[in-house]
Amino acid sequence: MDAERKKGLLAEKRRGLKEMRSLREFIRGSVVVLKRPCSYRGCKRCQAGLKHPGLYHTVSKAGKTQTTYLGSALAPRCREQGEAYKRLLVPYG
Ligand SMILES: [Zn+2]
Repeated sequence: MDAERKKGLLAEKRRGLKEMRSLREFIRGSVVVLKRPCSYRGCKRCQAGLKHPGLYHTVSKAGKTQTTYLGSALAPRCREQGEAYKRLLVPYG
């Protein structure tokens, strides 16, 4: 590898690290609304097939989808972190 190419790659690495620091927080995956049944046996919503909509974070790990309940309090921050992660994947122009 010639010196000029090495210098270019190091500059690119520095830009990448700077951008990662500026984003501060990022998370892989998506924020989604899932309708899930509750554990209450006599629940009329579940018996009617309506279930309970809620905000969840889903992420694929080793081919399996991991689902974590967020609720309305955590969902906006998680959504921002997900968008920050996607920005990380955009190659530098
Ligand atoms: Zn229910």
